[in-house]
Amino acid sequence: MWASLVSFRLWEPATPVQIRASPFNMVKTKKARHAGRFGTGYGTRVRKRLNVIEDAQRKKQTCPYCKKPGVKRVASGIWHCKKCGKKFAGPAYSLKK
Ligand SMILES: [Zn+2]
Repeated sequence: MWASLVSFRLWEPATPVQIRASPFNMVKTKKARHAGRFGTGYGTRVRKRLNVIEDAQRKKQTCPYCKKPGVKRVASGIWHCKKCGKKFAGPAYSLKK
């Protein structure tokens, strides 16, 4: 009991912003959202912008070739469509504006 409490405390970063990997706990972190994984150390503006960008990034991207939603971002500006297997260059974060 005591040991588990201690390890739990160690696991927790000393920040008021909740950072959890689990989707259940993510519900509680309204403000931090995607930026929560960075904890403090970044300003509000950067974190807000990151949330906007990553929201768009996580939505299903539609392939401009086969029009199917199977495109994943490989790297910044590099996209790969699972459906037709095409790899193409495009916008850095999201195919949709
Ligand atoms: Zn495609």
